[in-house]
Amino acid sequence: MIIVLAEKPDQARKLAAPFPHTKGKGFLLINSCKEFPSGAKVTWAIGHLVELKNPDEYNEAWKKWSLDSLPIIPERFEYKVSKDKAAQFKIVKDLLKEADQIIIATDPAREGENIARLLIMMAGCSNKPIKRLWTSSLTENAIRKGFAEVRDGSTTINLFYEAQARQISDWLIGLNASRLYTLHLQRKGFKEVFSVGRVQTPVLTLIYNRQCEIKNFKSEPFFELMAEFTVATGKYTGKLRDRYPSKEKLYEAVKPYIEPGKATYNGVVKLVEVNEKRTQPPTLYNLSGLQAAMNKKKKYSPTDVLTTVQSLYEKGYVSYPRSDSQHITAEEFAYLKQNLSNYQQLIGVSFQAHSLEPSKRYVNPDKVSDHYAIIPTEKIPASTADFTEMEKSTYDEIIKSALGMFLPDYTYEETVITTAIGEVDFLTKGKTEKSIGWKLLYRNDPEGTDDEEEQQSTLPRVNQADPTNGIVSVKDGMTQPPKPYTQGQLITLMTNAGRHVEDKEMRDALNESEGLGTEATRSSIIETLMQREFILVKKNQVYVTPKGEVLCEAVKGTILSKPEMTAQWEIFLKEIGRGNKKSSAFVENTKKLCHKLLEQASADMGNLNVEAQIAATEEAEQICKCPCGNGHITDKGKFYGCTAYKEGCKVSFHKELLGKKLTPTQIKTLCEKGKTGKIKGFTSKNKKKFEAALSLKDGKIEFIFS
Ligand SMILES: [Zn+2]
Repeated sequence: MIIVLAEKPDQARKLAAPFPHTKGKGFLLINSCKEFPSGAKVTWAIGHLVELKNPDEYNEAWKKWSLDSLPIIPERFEYKVSKDKAAQFKIVKDLLKEADQIIIATDPAREGENIARLLIMMAGCSNKPIKRLWTSSLTENAIRKGFAEVRDGSTTINLFYEAQARQISDWLIGLNASRLYTLHLQRKGFKEVFSVGRVQTPVLTLIYNRQCEIKNFKSEPFFELMAEFTVATGKYTGKLRDRYPSKEKLYEAVKPYIEPGKATYNGVVKLVEVNEKRTQPPTLYNLSGLQAAMNKKKKYSPTDVLTTVQSLYEKGYVSYPRSDSQHITAEEFAYLKQNLSNYQQLIGVSFQAHSLEPSKRYVNPDKVSDHYAIIPTEKIPASTADFTEMEKSTYDEIIKSALGMFLPDYTYEETVITTAIGEVDFLTKGKTEKSIGWKLLYRNDPEGTDDEEEQQSTLPRVNQADPTNGIVSVKDGMTQPPKPYTQGQLITLMTNAGRHVEDKEMRDALNESEGLGTEATRSSIIETLMQREFILVKKNQVYVTPKGEVLCEAVKGTILSKPEMTAQWEIFLKEIGRGNKKSSAFVENTKKLCHKLLEQASADMGNLNVEAQIAATEEAEQICKCPCGNGHITDKGKFYGCTAYKEGCKVSFHKELLGKKLTPTQIKTLCEKGKTGKIKGFTSKNKKKFEAALSLKDGKIEFIFS
């Protein structure tokens, strides 16, 4: 029997769809057909069913967090079945055992390979004949074609070695560095756990650096000279090129032609330059590009964008989402061309293609490795009425980027007028659209295409040497600090992390490896930093919390704060994936690094001054004063409790009371006023819903019914 191994149930359904099949328990049975003469069974993982063991499963003594037991380095690494996924593991294992051929059909990437190979290994089936289905699209055509051309398993096994080297090394760094810094910081007075990671910590540092820049920014006044000019054909505004720190300095620079107290002058048009400019249609999207664009246009979080593209991919409408390529091959171009009018119809635009010839800007097989850019597939829904709002706008955007290839450049005329008063030159810029080109696709977007571009402004027609009348005025303002990063900018920042590296060689390396994290992981890095309370996102802008600041200060100067480490890792890892380097060598390097981090932290931590942050984190946690008068009520994770518990205060509240979660605000009211207003949503012991106010009596909660 052929066993096909998918990554998720949804994917399994897609894989079986083109063939006659019936449902079994934990698998789909493909009946005998042309492609599978003796049938096949399609089963699935649920993401990772198998994980690395915990430290205490190697050695009981490693359960306790202690500096003495670091670094923790098991002699050989062992895997276990994830507890909550044991049932599906058993189904997969039994099926693999009966297989005489296994077809790996998980996502065509490093992690997909890892998921499948670990399962096969744990089932004891590594010696069976293995084939690999490799397709970037889940349409019926692509799946048929993929199964007709399955690769030999040996062609992708190196991806498994790459994935293992990554997984084990991240485990080593994450585990050892987290314990190391948590324990050191506990000595300084922190109670919390500080999770440290190879990718997340450099990203945190990048956000922190921006935050410091903002905090240290000194806003300064500036003065500009403006002039409103009147010519026979109309009016326009000019501006002096430079800004000055004071009015005095400004007038100093323009004397004797312009002086304080006088507003009206005669001027002359000194120069009129008209340049034709053009912008090409944007490149096709890889995941980072799409995440950044959708965050900018719609404020969608990068994680939401990934989930949405994944769901569109699983429905068969778009190609593989975790792609880092911005190019396609002639094959995809051919079907896009063929379906041109259908895509147009779906998004409500209509145009004659400017060119039906592939351009190297988009179609370049040399720049497509495992995957091509994210594009619509040839499966086009009759309507998108049943799509979610997010699916619809993301799908629209992907279609637009593909249609852009068939449209001409956007062209406009840029006019620069230099107007002189005496020998003082004022500049005026204007922009006139000549032909809308690819921007036709975005004409109806309220968000516009690019807010950084100057607004279009049409100027009156003027000629060189035209006399004008100018009224000058001084405009003042304050210099502005940089803004906090948005989530979308953070994705771009990770992609371009190479720019923040000082060493040139390393910078090139990072650029080649596409920066921090991979297309598949960037959004989850932001999620992780949020969950661990190192950053928070307010109105799409990202801030470092006091807890995050502490960690940044603690790892300052170490390799954990720098993007370089990841650059080196990704380059090495890719080489393992290509079969040029060994994963064991990589893991050995990581072990050495663990030792080095340990030494460095012991040396650095003595000088670390984080008292201000300790005070800030403690204050941030305080919900209100405790009725006992000695301490404050804080969030202790599973319950709310008093900080003066060591002095004997027993005030504490469960976070959940008869099925109702109590909010910090409700606890605050209860402690400060002795009772709350009516709260809905309690469930009595005999399963009845009820509402009641709460009162506090001798530190205990009582219900008030009235
Ligand atoms: Zn108390």
